[in-house]
Amino acid sequence: SYPFDAETVKRDFPILRERVHGRPLVWLDNAATTQKPQSVIDRLSYFYEHENSNVHRAAHELAARATDAYESAREKVRRFVNAPSTDEIVFVRGTTEGINLIAQTWGRRNIQKDDEIVITWLEHHANIVPWQMLCAEKGAKLRVAPVDDTGQIILEEYEKLLCSKTRLVSITQVSNALGTVTPAQKMIEMAHRYGATVLLDGAQSVSHMRADVQALDCDFFVFSGHKVFGPTGIGVVYGKAEILEHMPPWQGGGNMIQDVTFEKTVYHGPPQRFEAGTGNIADAVGLGAAIDYLDRVGMHNVSRHEHALLVYATDELSRVPGLRIIGTAKEKAGVLSFTLEGFRTEQVGEHLNRNGIAVRSGHHCAQPILRRFGIETSVRASLALYNTFEDIDRLIEAVWNLRLGRTAIA
Ligand code: PMP
Repeated sequence: SYPFDAETVKRDFPILRERVHGRPLVWLDNAATTQKPQSVIDRLSYFYEHENSNVHRAAHELAARATDAYESAREKVRRFVNAPSTDEIVFVRGTTEGINLIAQTWGRRNIQKDDEIVITWLEHHANIVPWQMLCAEKGAKLRVAPVDDTGQIILEEYEKLLCSKTRLVSITQVSNALGTVTPAQKMIEMAHRYGATVLLDGAQSVSHMRADVQALDCDFFVFSGHKVFGPTGIGVVYGKAEILEHMPPWQGGGNMIQDVTFEKTVYHGPPQRFEAGTGNIADAVGLGAAIDYLDRVGMHNVSRHEHALLVYATDELSRVPGLRIIGTAKEKAGVLSFTLEGFRTEQVGEHLNRNGIAVRSGHHCAQPILRRFGIETSVRASLALYNTFEDIDRLIEAVWNLRLGRTAIA
């Protein structure tokens, strides 16, 4: 890794040279999706210019190149999450597809009537709805661990939910709406004491902190490539080998079989068993390039830099009269959610957009947690490694101008 300088990092991302309403773009919608460095864009072009082929099936040179590129991306992902084996890395479309895959394979096989699934109030809809669907199908119960007024999980309440009926605990590592970093490691350890399987939603954590599935000891870990500077349409399910081996396939088709007759089909082992059809080969390769990029920058640099930005932005925004920060847990990463008294969140979002600043105003696909704080929507500024103190100053200045009724742009 090289000495970290956010200005230098920013220059690696061509889209950040865009101007919006005459001003240099400030991208603070990273929790929705992240921008791509030139190296990822170039890697995608290189794939289509020099390597493009379907994988595994053909005996020709390009098939070998494409297969090598695809499997080397799998190895990069393995290292990225510190999984013991590439057989434990399944490529999917994203976090949402990953969670649905687990619900419909592992879940259908292992969840029975009166079993319980524990989630938390912080979950994204992608980690609520698939479990509701499974519970309805099976007659199982969804239990929800509450948070305190800072937006942190109340561990004692969480522990009270765990019992011999708990089959699955499915929790986020970082809240996309508030930025809370949950005590995932402790929660996983507690769940395991009750014999429950644990899925960790890494969608919001992977771009901010080192992922380590062995240290966390989670049974499943899912994330989306597009939130970690890779392409859209590619994501990952990590599952412990002994669990994936006993999971039935999800979609049937090519690629996932060893042998097919009309009488009987023998499936591949993991990960191929879960990758029916032609996968998103180029974007998996692009994700590998994004991981390489992050390696070069150094995750410790990213975490340190973003923490400094978050502390600065929180302090400065707190000075604005009528501004309420939603989510004040001690452990936070990447997200600043707020409301501004006297303004609808869409008005704040529109005002910021007119100043070239991209944030999200809305419910962030996490309605329950916003309602827990008595609101339907918030303004969310979310950080990534290329955000600078100047970006934060632009945000603060624009918010102050709105507060003071000075909406003209200097
Ligand atoms: N979980 C969390 C915590 C998220 O932030 C998101 C994306 N906002 C998702 C799941 C869903 O990810 P995707 O839309 O990439 O499938």
